[in-house]
Amino acid sequence: MSAHKKEEQNLMEKIVSLCKRRGFIFPGSEIYGGMANSWDYGPLGVEMKNNIKQEWWKRFVRQRPDVVGIDAALIMNPKVWEASGHLKNFTDPLVDCKKCKQRFRADSIPDDHAKTCGGELTNERQFNLMFKTFIGPAEESANIAYFRPETAQAMFVDFKNVLQSARKRLPFGIAQIGKAFRNEITPGNFIFRTREFEQMEIEYFIREQDWEKSFEMWHEEMLLWVEHIGIPREKMHLKEVEAGERAHYSKRTVDFEYPFPFGVDELYGLAYRTDFDLKNHAAASGQDLSYVDAETNEKVIPHVIEPTWGVDRTMLAALCAAYHEEEAPTAEDGKTEARVVLRLPKWLAPIKVAILPLSKKDVLSAVAEPLYRELAQQFFCEYDETQSIGKRYRRQDEIGTPYCVTVDFESLEDKAVTIRDRDTMKQERVPLAEVKNWLVSKL
Ligand code: ATP
Repeated sequence: MSAHKKEEQNLMEKIVSLCKRRGFIFPGSEIYGGMANSWDYGPLGVEMKNNIKQEWWKRFVRQRPDVVGIDAALIMNPKVWEASGHLKNFTDPLVDCKKCKQRFRADSIPDDHAKTCGGELTNERQFNLMFKTFIGPAEESANIAYFRPETAQAMFVDFKNVLQSARKRLPFGIAQIGKAFRNEITPGNFIFRTREFEQMEIEYFIREQDWEKSFEMWHEEMLLWVEHIGIPREKMHLKEVEAGERAHYSKRTVDFEYPFPFGVDELYGLAYRTDFDLKNHAAASGQDLSYVDAETNEKVIPHVIEPTWGVDRTMLAALCAAYHEEEAPTAEDGKTEARVVLRLPKWLAPIKVAILPLSKKDVLSAVAEPLYRELAQQFFCEYDETQSIGKRYRRQDEIGTPYCVTVDFESLEDKAVTIRDRDTMKQERVPLAEVKNWLVSKL
């Protein structure tokens, strides 16, 4: 293994270990021996994940007059998946090794399989990735339903209702955040590929002639979002997906790939889905899913640009980009020590402010506790009075907390506290009465 590859593998192990130790992400069902590739978000992970979803919703739904949101059922009428083509086409090629009995996606057989096992592989067969379930008490084929493999279809199925109720005119988008399920053949790489994950998607309805302009607009919006989560756009690999590799409905697809420690792979996708979906759902449901222009009376089936974001991959990429190890000066002159710091964008950090009384003495908590209560109204704060102050700073650095507020014995005299900046580690004395406004201006 090359030195670079080893370093990257170490980085991944360090991130997985930090996530577990600090309560971002735990192995799922761990007390029962775990369940392969299932992960649970812990106290800090759920905060970070919620920050991602809320920020996305604010940016792409609330702040845009041309996008509205929905939250649809996870299990839809199975006819949806027939019309969308998923029952027939949502497959991956599967092969088995006759010797070691492992199963692989034919297009991603691990490099070392030939060397370590060398067993003969079966012919490819298509494996449908949709999770099946039964509706009601009888397990009969008439009752088969599927967990949605993407959030997108609900936007097409609800198109007519949204059009009538939200009174939008082309171009406009329908957005949704929610879980999707895929029976992946080879899940792995931590939360990169799991069988249950969350998506943030927009179906943006346009007139056919506007597709290139709209595609470019979303291309740029996606790059701005990438920067917003702390990744310089130059780091992204923008892959123009060839016709033969594109999904059956797409006329143009760009994969937004990120250099994860395990390799460059898809973070987000942008596709031009033409009028494929609305046309098929109109034909299959017998409903009129066209749009009538109020001024010209022109009747069209809108075309669709689809930008799509994975929530979990956002979290993983943001963690990888934010993770830093560095030598930092200690309180003693001229000395340094190693510190791990998550340089997350402030909006993304799970905890914004830590309130740290220098010790557990009552005189200090008499000042620190009311300050915590005041700040907690505005920001997600943590109150921590255990261990040495140095250790507490290290912990907050490691979880990406932008500011630590320290209450010390001097605070009793000068009615001020010290605020420490995560990135510069500079400390500033701020009067107690001004702490809240100081933080509001920075966060
Ligand atoms: P891949 O090629 O990696 O399987 P895809 O092209 O099938 O992904 P899409 O159908 O475009 O993925 O899904 C949209 C987004 O959902 C992806 O860009 C990704 O962020 C996320 N995503 C897809 N599959 C998974 C998964 N199994 N686990 C976590 N996130 C996923």
